[in-house]
Amino acid sequence: ATPTSIMVGTGRAAELGVLFRKGDALQALQGGETVALDKTGTLTEGRPVLTDLQVEASFDKDAVLRQIAAVEAQSEHPIARAIVEAAGPDLPRAEKFGSVTGYGVMATVEGQRVMIGAERLMTRRKIDTAPLQAAAQALAEQGKTPIFAAIDGDLAAVLAVSDPIKQTSRDAIDALHGMGLKVAMVTGDNRATAQVIAAQLGIDHVVAEVLPQGKVEALDSLRASGPIAFVGDGINDAPALAHADIGIAIGTGTDVAIESADVVLMSGDLTGVVTAFDLSARVMRNIR
Ligand code: ADP
Ligand code: MG
Repeated sequence: ATPTSIMVGTGRAAELGVLFRKGDALQALQGGETVALDKTGTLTEGRPVLTDLQVEASFDKDAVLRQIAAVEAQSEHPIARAIVEAAGPDLPRAEKFGSVTGYGVMATVEGQRVMIGAERLMTRRKIDTAPLQAAAQALAEQGKTPIFAAIDGDLAAVLAVSDPIKQTSRDAIDALHGMGLKVAMVTGDNRATAQVIAAQLGIDHVVAEVLPQGKVEALDSLRASGPIAFVGDGINDAPALAHADIGIAIGTGTDVAIESADVVLMSGDLTGVVTAFDLSARVMRNIR
């Protein structure tokens, strides 16, 4: 590749809202065989809303919502924001707050120990989720993320948040497939939920329920079939963005994600990924 054609290519890309932070990324893209995508905030809006709350018989729905929202008021996770918004103002105070990345949060509210998070959080704390398993499964099959809540060690509720798919995601995936690329999803979210969203988008391969470091390991296993590009937006995507052959950050994402990437998309969606691959193919074709 001549330096001039690369320069022209990256210049053209910038006009189209695709910023190459490293010159060789334009060349590296050409060799890419798989595009792995983060789900929350990349394929979806990243702004979940609370859609369901089902409590166990001995619990009061409004009281449970206020207690879990009191805990979530201390968290910055998008799921937390959805729950706090649904609960409204004047929440009780939460003390001794704690959070486990990729699992959930806990605190003491009105003298009771309140815990909210993924099923694996409940399992870790020896809380039996069996009574609400069927409900959780039904919610996941609707593409919603099921979340469990426990109060003083007893299973109290299953709730669900729903995060709409960006309107442009489907077309972008179709275009990547059209270029002969494999498309995968890598997410910390519930496996059944992730599979439903992936099916709606025509995504071939799903890696779910991974922690941030697990995203890096997922890339290594996907790389078995050739160089890999990873697209993400969050703090938890930064290690994977740095580790991928080509890290692509959504420009509306977090600063850490942008700093870890080789390519930054100015638009808040995946249209720029298609533009990047397309330009790379054309620049490299002209060179040969
Ligand atoms: P992702 O952003 O890819 O969904 P995270 O690692 O942030 O992945 O979270 C994984 C899962 O952990 C969430 O789907 C949720 O079930 C649980 N979780 C994390 N933080 C919270 C929170 N503040 N409240 C409830 N659940 C949470
Ligand atoms: Mg994300």
